[in-house]
Amino acid sequence: MKPVKIMLEEKKIPRAWYNLAADLPNPAQPPLGPDGQPVSPQMLGKVFPMNLIEQEMSRERWIKIPEEVLGILYRWRPTPLRRAVFLEQYLKTPARIYYKDESVSPAGSHKPNTAVAQAWYNKEFGIKKLSTETGAGQWGCALAFACKLLDLECKVFMVRISFDQKPLRKMMMKVWGADCVASPSPETNAGREILKETPDTPGSLGIAISEAVERAVMDPSGKTRYALGSVLNHVMLHQTIIGLEAKEQLKIAGEKKVDVVIGCAGGGSNFAGISFPFVCDKIHGEKITILPVEPTACPTLTRGPFAYDHGDIAKMTPLLAMHSLGHGFIPPAIHAGGLRYHGMSPLVSQAVIEGLLEPRAYDQMKCYEAALLWARTEGLIVAPETSHAIAGVIDEAVRAREEGKGKTILFCLSGHGLMDLAGYDKYLNGELKEAALSEEFLRKSLESIQGYPQPQVRKTGKW
Ligand SMILES: *Cc1c(COP(=O)(O)O)cnc(C)c1O
Repeated sequence: MKPVKIMLEEKKIPRAWYNLAADLPNPAQPPLGPDGQPVSPQMLGKVFPMNLIEQEMSRERWIKIPEEVLGILYRWRPTPLRRAVFLEQYLKTPARIYYKDESVSPAGSHKPNTAVAQAWYNKEFGIKKLSTETGAGQWGCALAFACKLLDLECKVFMVRISFDQKPLRKMMMKVWGADCVASPSPETNAGREILKETPDTPGSLGIAISEAVERAVMDPSGKTRYALGSVLNHVMLHQTIIGLEAKEQLKIAGEKKVDVVIGCAGGGSNFAGISFPFVCDKIHGEKITILPVEPTACPTLTRGPFAYDHGDIAKMTPLLAMHSLGHGFIPPAIHAGGLRYHGMSPLVSQAVIEGLLEPRAYDQMKCYEAALLWARTEGLIVAPETSHAIAGVIDEAVRAREEGKGKTILFCLSGHGLMDLAGYDKYLNGELKEAALSEEFLRKSLESIQGYPQPQVRKTGKW
């Protein structure tokens, strides 16, 4: 029998996060303020605690994980590395497919890895309350859980369409003690403005971010900060524990080398988590194919320009150098809520510019088909976001069969889909269709960043 579960002993858990900023040949460009100059740490100080701002700007390769954070992560980490032998058999592929199962966390996804770290650093800095946005509800749940463990209050602005489509997650947030409202909400200036213009808007992550940031910076006590579940450098950093564990586990499984690494990409965090330790190896000479997979409905890396843009629709955040569809982008209502964000992590974007990554976009129909095949071979019902990674894995495994190559494929199973069954139901009832973004829609959306400063395109040309 082939081993299907490769466990890592608790005492072998990684003790430091890996920071890709230390190894990128050309650094990601700094965020810009309203005056077009790089923002200072002080300017971000109303939004984030200073210890996380330091992490955000750090170029240290290894950053120690605080003992107390490890103490909480032990609840579910190290996560298992599993081998998808049943899918391999079904596909008759010579490829060996491994995946990090991040669905085993209490909230059901990779997001608690950073939620716990962020809550801890905020607490350490004397903060009492965190405010945030959530799309599908995964991040809201992760932060609600983390805040409860660290005794912080938690306020969540949830994108309206998900609030209506996914009531189960708001119940989970309540169980963990958070206060969750639909966004746009009447509770903030940003929300009220948008409701006045478009009362039936499905909302977007961008709008919800505006509300959550406003809530943090307007708190007269100064004890509220904002927490972001993806995109920022410190979030990518906290997620690298996924790839670092995977490396150890692949060694245990007897694998000397990985050929392909795959993750779905919304803001980039689970993808960065599984891949950055391997991007490091690639920078230092190894041959690895690294694939972020996104939806054709929100094709940030494959069709969005590399530009300076705001992280949110109300333009409260600094300008980030990233691939973007424009901050005014209101994505089609596909079920992969976590992949509906207009921007992308600046670190992931810079790695794409370098040619270290090969982004792909798949349509939701192909992804649901892949998710069903997965559920019917491997068993787990995955999150609609994760199905994008699986569609990429199946393509690579089939290609390995056609080429007769015994490749090693690693991917991040970012979360389970047990709260997302409505999407599966619609797919099975034939109610979903292809949702690729039209040229016209994209062009309109990009008008929101016309005339913005242009980041330099810096690449070595090695990859
Ligand atoms: C949020 C989420 C994603 C997308 O976010 P990233 O920051 O790109 O990882 C993917 N999968 C799941 C299960 C999620 O909850």
